[in-house]
Amino acid sequence: MRQLVITSGKGGTGKTTVAACLLTLAWRAGIADADVDAPNLHLLLHPKLLDEREFKGAKQVVKNEAACSGCGKCEEVCRFGAIKDLAVDPFRCEGCGLCVYVCPEKALRLEEVATGTLMLSRTRYGHFAHARLYIGAEASGKLVTAVRRKAEEACRDEELVIIDGSPGIGCAVIASLSGTDLALLVTEPTVSGLHDLDRILKVAQHFGVTALVCINKYDLSPELSAELERYCAGEKVDLVGKIPFDPAVLDVIRQGMPLEDLLKTRAGQAIEGIWETVRMFLH
Ligand code: SF4
Ligand code: SF4
Repeated sequence: MRQLVITSGKGGTGKTTVAACLLTLAWRAGIADADVDAPNLHLLLHPKLLDEREFKGAKQVVKNEAACSGCGKCEEVCRFGAIKDLAVDPFRCEGCGLCVYVCPEKALRLEEVATGTLMLSRTRYGHFAHARLYIGAEASGKLVTAVRRKAEEACRDEELVIIDGSPGIGCAVIASLSGTDLALLVTEPTVSGLHDLDRILKVAQHFGVTALVCINKYDLSPELSAELERYCAGEKVDLVGKIPFDPAVLDVIRQGMPLEDLLKTRAGQAIEGIWETVRMFLH
């Protein structure tokens, strides 16, 4: 099974639309939405839910008040300021366990807490692993890893899994990228686009993942697009396509039309060209 991740240096570049189009073109493939902080691929895929379970991705300290002698040692050692006047603030607790270690009365213990929901669904293209991180929950990298494992299990017989990756460069991005066979980096011609591309490219290179680049909405700024092209040439990274700005894409999405209709748009046709190159890199 080959794994292709579609990602970007920041959100809002259109990577989910690109991922959905590539899924349509691949026709039979598993898919994983690793953008657990802001998942929206399900809005395009109209999946049928097969399984949903709580994901416990963090630990928090729990106190047995009856056993506490009030010595204050836990408050002294907590460098996250999560214990104040001997009361534990669950929103500040990072689950490091130091207070549990120093408590002479064994009044503290670590408990696993749910940080999100992990789901497996069926779509007309194949299995779809996705998740939702609870508001304010951290450890999104662990949830991304769980989504990828879920997709790998469910798609054992598929030749390809397409991952809609987390944007940025944090731990969720690393969890989306590491161990994949190929990364398609979606960028856009904005002032921060070059900087964001540079950051995500460095992450991909650090993890030994071959990266390709495509520019979305390239025609909104031909000058900045040319700058991105020069950057790719300088970095010896393949620029596999440029996608025009196309309001028809939004119409298809807003009206909940079949994904195949995305391919009929000008943007979709450009993505079809990108797919021809991407598939060569996958073989
Ligand atoms: S270290 Fe243990 S006994 Fe001391 S105040 Fe904290 S919880 Fe209570
Ligand atoms: S587990 Fe760590 S972060 Fe949480 S209260 Fe104890 S020392 Fe502070």
